[in-house]
Amino acid sequence: MPIDYDIKFSRRKTIAIKVKRTGEIVVAAPIRCSKKTIHQFVLSKEDWINKSLTKVEQYQEQIKRNYHEGELFPYKGSEYPLVFINSLENRVVFDPEVGIQVPSDILNVADLVYNWYVEEACQCITESVKLYSHVLNLYPSKLKISNMKASWGSCSSRGRVSIAWRLIMAPPEVLDYVVIHELAHLEHLNHSKTFWSHVEECYPNFKQCKKWLKQNAHKLSFEI
Ligand SMILES: [Zn+2]
Repeated sequence: MPIDYDIKFSRRKTIAIKVKRTGEIVVAAPIRCSKKTIHQFVLSKEDWINKSLTKVEQYQEQIKRNYHEGELFPYKGSEYPLVFINSLENRVVFDPEVGIQVPSDILNVADLVYNWYVEEACQCITESVKLYSHVLNLYPSKLKISNMKASWGSCSSRGRVSIAWRLIMAPPEVLDYVVIHELAHLEHLNHSKTFWSHVEECYPNFKQCKKWLKQNAHKLSFEI
């Protein structure tokens, strides 16, 4: 299949390809670079482009949620069905044996599920940060449970740590890994060898968690 792409020329030295979340392919190239060279470069990256496009498709499929009875939603690394119940309470009632229960006469199911996710995330992330701050003896100046979409966490030079609430959908050990990763940045504001060995010391299975996030990121999307 021919690859359709846009070229953006700029004052740069190398060619780079980006597959956007919309599925568009943009090639950034140096001003003097010929179209033939660019095309050859694109062709040499065909496998990578196709893999990225598959990921984009998976991501786009996943965010199309319909909120039908029985539809599965990820929570703490497992999937649970949406169940409609007779209830006067305007909130989610979670039961691991039954599923994510919402009142049957409610119109804004998405909002309800979203609020529930964020509440649960606040509790779990706060607990995890407390525990691993103690273990690492590194304490953030501020903790934010964030709605960030492009990453899982961040740490500022002022010691503010943000963690994506969407991690409540991932297995708890993956959430803990992101917390440890960001807390370790309080000491090393980089991804140096020392940084990674600090993470590994605290969390020997961190590589599996990293891999899990890479492979499953599309499952943790949520749009309302
Ligand atoms: Zn990092």
